[in-house]
Amino acid sequence: MSGMLRTVSCLFAVALACGAALPLSAQSAAPAWLAPYRDAVSRLTAAAQADDFAWRRLAELTDTYGNRLSGSENLQRAIRWAEATMKTDGLANVRAEKVLVPRWVRGRESAVIVDPPEHPIVMLGLGGSVATPAAGLEADVLVVKNYKDLEARAADAKGRIVLFNVPYTTYGETVAYRSGGASAAAKVGAVASLVRAVGPMGLRTPHTGNMSYAEGVTKIPTAAIAAEDANRIQRLADRGLRVRVRLTMEAHMEPDAESANVFGEITGREFPKEVVLVGCHFDSWDLGTGASDNGVGCIVTWEALRLMKHLGLRPRRTVRVGLFTNEENGLRGGTAYRDANLAAAGDHIFALESDSGVFAPASLGFTGSDAARRVIDEIGTLLTPLGFPAIGPGGGGADIGPIAQAGKVPMMAYNGDSTRYFTIHHTPADTVDRIAPDEVSKAAAAIATMAYVIAERPERLPK
Ligand SMILES: [Zn+2]
Repeated sequence: MSGMLRTVSCLFAVALACGAALPLSAQSAAPAWLAPYRDAVSRLTAAAQADDFAWRRLAELTDTYGNRLSGSENLQRAIRWAEATMKTDGLANVRAEKVLVPRWVRGRESAVIVDPPEHPIVMLGLGGSVATPAAGLEADVLVVKNYKDLEARAADAKGRIVLFNVPYTTYGETVAYRSGGASAAAKVGAVASLVRAVGPMGLRTPHTGNMSYAEGVTKIPTAAIAAEDANRIQRLADRGLRVRVRLTMEAHMEPDAESANVFGEITGREFPKEVVLVGCHFDSWDLGTGASDNGVGCIVTWEALRLMKHLGLRPRRTVRVGLFTNEENGLRGGTAYRDANLAAAGDHIFALESDSGVFAPASLGFTGSDAARRVIDEIGTLLTPLGFPAIGPGGGGADIGPIAQAGKVPMMAYNGDSTRYFTIHHTPADTVDRIAPDEVSKAAAAIATMAYVIAERPERLPK
């Protein structure tokens, strides 16, 4: 708490000093056209950082409803809470739009080294995996370092459990083994596949996540194991020892289930049909409480609108928040939104997604035309007092992607520190305890600033 209060008083100092005591260099960097927005931006920022309201709302969501896998009762209850709470906030056009989502159920699962002497492996089945036979399956392990290595040792894979012991570099690079490892192993005759958890070394933490089976290839069960367990198996194999593992998984798909995207708005006072969209995904994996991925992204984008409403700010264009369903294992929420809004896609003038956490040091990324980028960079100068660096490349997000593609919409991403984010990503450790209140408030302040100025400018953001 004391850390929070310090942040708040610093912020007020900055807000009060605006225009009077700012160093000349900072003043000349800020373009004159932004002057009319400074007062509203100061109020939004001060309100976001005045207390830990947003963090407490995140704690309420994650403590009360827990993790929120697509098709689960937890997610349904959380959706009803979000819809009711947005109404209490006084947002306009609050609605839950139905979406049918796939329903994968983990069931009980375990992996044990049975020889050399019995040793339980810390594991998590991958989303979409099939089950093992009820009694489990037992086989010797073939450890490979990458796909090339598997190719070279294809003759040894038949009847084995293939372990991809691929050290984590970046999520983008390493995740290929989680999504495609099972089919690559099945093609060379493996009976199951294991993948070293995709994330920086944690505290023997396995990371789940989605996988998919290639067309026409035998579906074999697949799971992630903690890096420490993967390394142990690697060392045993390197010493020439046979490692035998028993894998037992009940994972299966059930019929599609009902879910929904939840929306709320600040209706534009002059151009209500033109939309500034901010969004996130509301579903999570069935572990931890989905706090960083992606409860917090939903709270901070929603908070941008709540703050505007609270302060009586109603910009020229509509600001819409979308809490999308089923990002983790299907993307049905984002695609349903595009399909329902195809005719209005061109009237989406900007879209921002928060789905990379809020861990400090956070930054913003943008993808759009050079003309749009010039405006965005200028608005970005308003975030300098909050400590944000210049806006980088790489805007976008899985849920806003479909509508943005349809409407050629400029996109932004709010990005938390990626090492801290991926250390707990898709693990039982993804809980609110790891997120600091001032990180949440800062994200809400930055997103509110971007959304407000873009929605309020007399001119549309160039495409
Ligand atoms: Zn996510």
